[in-house]
Amino acid sequence: MSDKQKQLLELAAKLADEFAARAERYDRENSFPFENIEALKQSGYTALVIPERYGGLGANLLDFVTCQERLAQGCGATALAINMHLFGLGSMVERAAPQERPEQGLFLELVGRQRKIIGGGLSEPEGGGDWGLFATRAHRDGEAYVLNGRKVFTSLSPVVDYFMVMATVENNGQLCSATFVVGRTTPGLQLIESWDAMGMRATASHDLILKDVRVPAAAMADPRPVGPLGAEAISLFAWFELSIAAVYTGVAAAALNFTREFAQRHKPFMLERPINYLPGVQFAFADAQVLLAQSRALYLTTARDYVENRESFTGEQGLARLITAKYAAVNNAIRIVDYCMEIAGAHGFLRRNPLERLFRDVRAGINHPLSNTRAREFIGKVALGVPLDTKPRW
Ligand SMILES: Cc1cc2nc3c(=O)[nH]c(=O)nc-3n(C[C@H](O)[C@H](O)[C@H](O)COP(=O)(O)OP(=O)(O)OC[C@H]3O[C@@H](n4cnc5c(N)ncnc54)[C@H](O)[C@@H]3O)c2cc1C
Repeated sequence: MSDKQKQLLELAAKLADEFAARAERYDRENSFPFENIEALKQSGYTALVIPERYGGLGANLLDFVTCQERLAQGCGATALAINMHLFGLGSMVERAAPQERPEQGLFLELVGRQRKIIGGGLSEPEGGGDWGLFATRAHRDGEAYVLNGRKVFTSLSPVVDYFMVMATVENNGQLCSATFVVGRTTPGLQLIESWDAMGMRATASHDLILKDVRVPAAAMADPRPVGPLGAEAISLFAWFELSIAAVYTGVAAAALNFTREFAQRHKPFMLERPINYLPGVQFAFADAQVLLAQSRALYLTTARDYVENRESFTGEQGLARLITAKYAAVNNAIRIVDYCMEIAGAHGFLRRNPLERLFRDVRAGINHPLSNTRAREFIGKVALGVPLDTKPRW
């Protein structure tokens, strides 16, 4: 590990330890961790993936996912929320050529030096997991675009300065999807505080309504027709899939840390030694430990390969590698926490112990794109040589 990686990881560890002390309260109150976001801003973590010349910390994908796993060990919800800000930026930086496009440089400055926050607007109540085109529509009106629609699961929404709203737009007679940068105070934007979920409660993933929201034409990033997977999609997926793998692996690691400590100290009256001496506990812990090692090996190796040899990630095969790492990690994480619940017995069931929260938080992982059903289809078709665009689909 380089000195820079060590420093970044130390920062993530310091923040994680601070956030761990507050995680239970935010979860119970279903409130948003403003304090944590302020600490992330002050420390530069919100600019983790922004190049140093723009005021950021200059993390590459491997640094980023390593830090995100550590941060999630302290507070999974805070790590997931800030992930929605960071992953898209990381991909943008990777693809950016600021010397050619000054507005991109300005945008990176806004995040790097002014510590502005961006948030996602991909998911919709109508679209669910089969996006490509969006129910949210944009139409050209003179020098502006006008947006109408509803976004759901908008994590980080109380502090987002710029919403990245994905919408369908007609471009040269073709239906395309495009991302629009919409400032928080733009008229017609309305946040509905709908988030009351089973887990990841402190992400404030509320609904965002767009009613005749006007943005200048320059607020639209390149529109793309639905079609073959390009370099942009691969980059976005690399930053998203691997960081989601990291966050949920972090949640699982936190559960294992609690369970180890619990098993070492918990001594039922009838036993001579704590329960870590019981073979059943050792075997369950071993299985969980092995799953954790598998997840880390896969997502970290994939991230390292991506950083060192990005050209090898092309087309469906490249995407399948990224999706496989995410699929394995989020499902392993659930199994790890289940083992922890088994080991801790009814103590894991009590809200005063963190396992109960981690058990709920970890379950969200399979819903992030690609969800389990879509990941299996993707991985299976690629492995079996069935083209993804085969019609009929099944
Ligand atoms: C804690 C949390 C935070 C999130 N934060 C954000 C955020 O900040 N920004 C954002 O944009 N989104 C966010 N999301 C949304 C998330 O990443 C997914 O896009 C969303 O959960 C998908 O919605 P759904 O499961 O309701 O989809 P649905 O499409 O309604 O899925 C329902 C079921 O049908 C299956 N399904 C649907 N379509 C297909 C298909 N074509 N083929 C096969 N199976 C299919 C799904 O796999 C699933 O099993 C967040 C989600 C969570 C849980």
